[in-house]
Amino acid sequence: MGIIEKMRLDGKKGFVTGGARGIGKATATAFAEAGADIAIVDIDLETAEQTAKEIAELTGRKVIAVKCDVTVESDVQAMVDTVVNELGGLDFCHANAGICINEAAETMTYEQWLRNINVNLNSVFLTDTIAGRYMLAHGGGSIINTASMSAHIVNVPQPQCAYNASKAGVIQLTKSLAVEWAKRGVRVNSISPGYIGTDLTLSSETLKPLIAQWNAMAPMGRLGTPEELQAVCVYLAGDAAGFTTGSDFIVDGAFTCF
Ligand code: NAD
Repeated sequence: MGIIEKMRLDGKKGFVTGGARGIGKATATAFAEAGADIAIVDIDLETAEQTAKEIAELTGRKVIAVKCDVTVESDVQAMVDTVVNELGGLDFCHANAGICINEAAETMTYEQWLRNINVNLNSVFLTDTIAGRYMLAHGGGSIINTASMSAHIVNVPQPQCAYNASKAGVIQLTKSLAVEWAKRGVRVNSISPGYIGTDLTLSSETLKPLIAQWNAMAPMGRLGTPEELQAVCVYLAGDAAGFTTGSDFIVDGAFTCF
């Protein structure tokens, strides 16, 4: 079998959290284009349903929408059960839902800190371990977590200490699970995108005015697109990545190189 065929995901089943829009929508589309059946998992069910319909029409794959708040353990368990029942199994998942709270450390409330850590890091523990338990008991699988270049650098000029700490935690959680499950067929990797043009950046009153400054600092002089994260995620989801576990893939147009 050639490498392109090995990278296909025909017959596989997976889910993407935060899949209704942005990066998650792009990776869900790519997984379905590569042949997988997919669940679009999001707290925003209406948008998730629209996205599922769009991807199903585009690819001809089975695509379902599942409402889930990834910070609530019972929601995540119910979501994984629904995916397994409705798609007929679970081979891979992309734990991608996240938020960014921009607040200086000295004025950040503990509630804001906890919210950012809860949505970005604690949710990844829940998603990975609940999906992982199923995969460990059913022949293995692949888990992809969305970290960020903010796990590697401190972004400027916007203050975001909780976000940066949450994403650094995602990488170390990824590596820890990868080692624990390495001999049992479950691979765990993360992606660390640079600035990507999504609602998180383009529609944020705080962040949108900073885009020109970020572009001035960026070697490529521009934001990335969600589509520029698709190939690495399709690779990680499938069997071509059999020896790839515990790795973090920085896709940032060289932003963190200096
Ligand atoms: P986005 O805001 O466009 O999409 C995030 C999605 O997550 C939304 O559909 C939202 O409804 C969903 N979501 C939020 N909280 C949720 C919850 N509690 N339960 C379930 N779903 C929830 O953001 P995006 O830019 O596509 O970001 C996706 C991921 O990529 C995030 O983890 C983000 O931190 C990370 N990231 C983004 C950038 C960027 O520049 N856009 C860069 C690096 C990393």
